[in-house]
Amino acid sequence: MSAVSEIIRCSNFAAIKHKDQRRKDKEGTPYINHPIGVANILTQEAGITDVAVIQAALLHDTVEDTNTTFEEILDNFGEEVTGLVREVTDDKNLPKLERKQQQIDHAPHTSYKAKLVKLADKLYNLRDLNRCTPCGWQESRVKEYFQWAKKVVDGLKGTNQAMENSLDELFKERDIM
Ligand code: NDP
Ligand code: ZN
Repeated sequence: MSAVSEIIRCSNFAAIKHKDQRRKDKEGTPYINHPIGVANILTQEAGITDVAVIQAALLHDTVEDTNTTFEEILDNFGEEVTGLVREVTDDKNLPKLERKQQQIDHAPHTSYKAKLVKLADKLYNLRDLNRCTPCGWQESRVKEYFQWAKKVVDGLKGTNQAMENSLDELFKERDIM
């Protein structure tokens, strides 16, 4: 199957899986805007054209946030994409704070392709927080999120200059060193 066909099949799969979800912003933006936006950062800003990376970006929150299983991803998209989605999926059996610490601890040990998806995911979410504070969040929580994201991103350094420069700018704006 062609790359275009694979990417559209993947987008369709993610759109169906996320169809009832909304982002946490006040407008309740459809959730699918996020995985498509992450894939868009990779192609338009990071210069990435690797099909498996783009597919993993489109699918990166399906297992974590919907009823999708890794087996389903494997049956539909094969081993490489499944491996990447596995690398960027939090262990939902762990309490939230431990999951967040694991992201910091695991970041340096993930593969190059998974690091690309993680960088684009963080960049998208931090821009989203700058665009609009999620419902119920105080400014202190936004700040804490930036501080945590910086620790994860520190472990992803040396992966993609364009995304790392954009992330550095966002951290500088908030005086996070
Ligand atoms: P969460 O992990 O609860 O939320 C952030 C995640 O939500 C992002 O990583 C992103 O994940 C997703 N998301 C959805 N919509 C948006 C959006 N519009 N903008 C940005 N991200 C969005 O946040 P915290 O890290 O703050 O929570 C950590 C823990 O602390 C939780 O258990 C929380 O309940 C608790 N807590 C913290 C408080 C504080 O002041 N720090 C106050 C109350 C509770 P994805 O890429 O998967 O979509
Ligand atoms: Zn995400």
